[in-house]
Amino acid sequence: MNDRLIGVLGGGQLGRMLALAGYPLGFRFRFLDPAGDAPVRYLAEQVVASYDDHLAVAQFGNSLMVATYEFENVPVTTARALEQHIPVFPPPQALEVAQDRLAEKRFFTQLNIPTAPFAPVDDRASLDAAIERIGLPALLKTRRLGYDGKGQALIGQRADIEDAWRALGGQPLILEGFVSFVRELSVLAVRGQDGAVACYPPVENLHRNGILYRSIAPAPGLAAEVQLLAETYARRVLEALDYVGVLAIEMFEVKPDRTGGARLLANEMAPRVHNSGHWTIDGAVTSQFENHLRAIAGLPLGDASARGCAAMVNLIGGLPDVTMLLALPDTHLHLYDKAPRPGRKLGHVTVCAVDAERLAERLAVVERYVLASTK
Ligand code: AMP
Repeated sequence: MNDRLIGVLGGGQLGRMLALAGYPLGFRFRFLDPAGDAPVRYLAEQVVASYDDHLAVAQFGNSLMVATYEFENVPVTTARALEQHIPVFPPPQALEVAQDRLAEKRFFTQLNIPTAPFAPVDDRASLDAAIERIGLPALLKTRRLGYDGKGQALIGQRADIEDAWRALGGQPLILEGFVSFVRELSVLAVRGQDGAVACYPPVENLHRNGILYRSIAPAPGLAAEVQLLAETYARRVLEALDYVGVLAIEMFEVKPDRTGGARLLANEMAPRVHNSGHWTIDGAVTSQFENHLRAIAGLPLGDASARGCAAMVNLIGGLPDVTMLLALPDTHLHLYDKAPRPGRKLGHVTVCAVDAERLAERLAVVERYVLASTK
């Protein structure tokens, strides 16, 4: 065993940022990714193979200190096979739950974490029954492999049912009541091998075409009660799974109930570092990437507080004028070494400031540059 070598399933931008955070701590990395042009290709050793290639997985796992993943659709069987030989964090059970929207919603419900109303849909009759129970509008989603808004159909009224069924029918589905949320939030938390937990302040997320476009940290105007609720839910999930590493939970903030109590509905969880936590590289005392590595390596966790205010804007499909961006105060560019393609995340920009007012001013300029290049 090499006591510094960390294996990562997936070699995308999250893996790249894990490696960049890990080198100062003295770690080395090996990645498994089917793409020969993965964003980690110049950074570390890479096994180019599919995630279910048993021989390649064995080669990948050979002499690792620990394995982790940066891609949540890694086959659970692969994570469990590796676990026979080396520690795998976060626990494969977290992957299993997060890969199936129905299992995930049931898991939240078991833990008393509220969600949108939901029902399984396996055939046309169960779709009708689910609509009867949940009402409209509702979202029909694939149970597996849905991400960035893919694999979803909105059923606004009865006339939309046939189209939604034609688009998605024939695979395991879930129907969810449509939530008219005030905004979307996510909470990132990290748990160490000793059970210590650190929570990043919840962030406000804005999606465009189902893809995360912007995160603001901490979420502007966040009530202390909402923050506490988000952290309580995150801790519940971490404890229930005996989790090690960074976990993200995406939530909807909805209007307070009749008693005035804050309400958050959990939408989904990601058992890995997360796009809505990229601001932590420049804006938190310890980045999500460093904290994930500290956790899986059995080291003490770092402080997860924000240094001030920060916003992260994704660079999607095209790149802005880098010279103009980098001339802005406290503005940081992170590129992923990916070929431009419409809808593809190519990098992100983080802008920081001492207070929310100054952040809003700087963010407006950054967004103007970024939006001009988004494809
Ligand atoms: P998901 O693939 O579940 O992350 O959904 C992608 C985006 O669709 C979310 O970030 C929300 O903006 C929206 N969305 C998902 N589920 C719901 C829901 N039940 N009600 C309203 N909007 C939703």
